Amino acid sequence: MRLSRYFLPVLKENPAEAQIVSHRYMLRAGMIKQQAAGIYSWLPLGLRVLNRIQQIVHEEQVRAGHIPLLMPTLQPADLWRESGRYDDYGQEMLRIKDRQDREMLYGPTNEEMITDIFRSHVNSYKDLPLTLYHIQWKFRDEMRPRFGVMRGREFLMKDGYNFDIDKDAALHAYNRHMVSYLRTYERMGLTAIPMRAASGPIGGDNTHEFLVLAATGESEVFFDSAVTDLKLGNREVDYDNRAEVAAVCQEFTTLYARTDETHDEAVFNTIPEERRKVARGIEVGQIFYFGTKYSESMGASVVTADGSKVPVEMGSHGIGVSRLLGAIIEASHDDKGIIWPEGVTPFPVGIVNLKQGDAAADAACDSLYKALAAKGLEALYDDRDERAGAKFATMDLIGLPWRITVGPRGLANGVVEVTSRRTGVSEEMTPEAAVARIADIYAGI
Ligand code: ATP
Ligand code: MG
Repeated sequence: MRLSRYFLPVLKENPAEAQIVSHRYMLRAGMIKQQAAGIYSWLPLGLRVLNRIQQIVHEEQVRAGHIPLLMPTLQPADLWRESGRYDDYGQEMLRIKDRQDREMLYGPTNEEMITDIFRSHVNSYKDLPLTLYHIQWKFRDEMRPRFGVMRGREFLMKDGYNFDIDKDAALHAYNRHMVSYLRTYERMGLTAIPMRAASGPIGGDNTHEFLVLAATGESEVFFDSAVTDLKLGNREVDYDNRAEVAAVCQEFTTLYARTDETHDEAVFNTIPEERRKVARGIEVGQIFYFGTKYSESMGASVVTADGSKVPVEMGSHGIGVSRLLGAIIEASHDDKGIIWPEGVTPFPVGIVNLKQGDAAADAACDSLYKALAAKGLEALYDDRDERAGAKFATMDLIGLPWRITVGPRGLANGVVEVTSRRTGVSEEMTPEAAVARIADIYAGI
């Protein structure tokens, strides 16, 4: 993409309404525009990151054996009356009437609707296990929408629902989600720690929230610092192997890590003092086993091998897709702007032409751009007639992890400069070597 033809409405000044760094940078980098409290337009740069995040979420869900579908944003109120949640949900639910005076709502979550789909089409144990998910906009009329996309009213969520024949199978689905989430967040350059969370009115202790540590996080968390060293990495996990999946979960949930709702001071105090950490975190996901709560109230049952009928065992599992942009920026920025991890960056690399209009510099940039494209890498090429300083400031603000700088002086020596946004370290090399270097970096991503 040539910057001269793009739509990147960068702001020079810090917007007064932004209280935290991610919100400030998202506005300044022209990624989002607020349209009403907690409701945003996604401008082209923001949309590119949102799409990258969605793609990673999809890939990891499909890898775990989960199946995408798409449910609507608007739902009939009657479905929610069946589960009893229409009245329970309170003011967070946006209620709407259509022209026939039928009661509708903008979905805050989809347990009822997915259960309705299931009961309409599935009635035998032979069709299990089944996990369906979608990535769809949700609406919750939050009391205090704030921090930009972190706590919006309209926000994008991945929500998945497992249907299983018995509790053991449902717990395997729970574990599969945990492992797939670990991989999802790691691919986004994040450390998201599964923490034991409160299950609320449903009971049981099978729920974990995934938290990214950040001073601006809304949750207070307590953990053993050793938990932050755990990494899934590139290990292959066979998602059909219950013992193998459970072992990974065991590894990631044995060390103490809890939200304030489940925190137990006595247990916490048994951790060596230097490893005892109290901090703040951003909830980027939650997994939940809840058994037959919805299947019983809504009549979703299957016939078992011995011919009896049982309500299906379920759980639901969410990832805060739009919130993740804020969380990633909170975890990865400096005083000049965002530093995107390679996995989610809107463009893999930026090209800065130091002397637009110089025949050699223009030609070198064009050929770099084409050579990168031939490797499947779409560069953002700053071809504007601007001072070098302004071009660097824009690149630093929008946070592309790699930059290739091209100028007449370097070209006279046959070199361009490759700079890492994270370390600030620059290296001179031939244009061909620069393309090879960038291609190499993205080869495994
Ligand atoms: P919170 O405690 O932050 O209000 P929640 O526990 O009510 O969130 P869930 O129902 O668990 O949210 O939704 C799944 C995920 O969706 C959350 O882990 C979070 O990342 C994201 N999410 C929830 N509410 C919002 C919101 N208002 N804006 C953006 N993302 C949200
Ligand atoms: Mg939650």
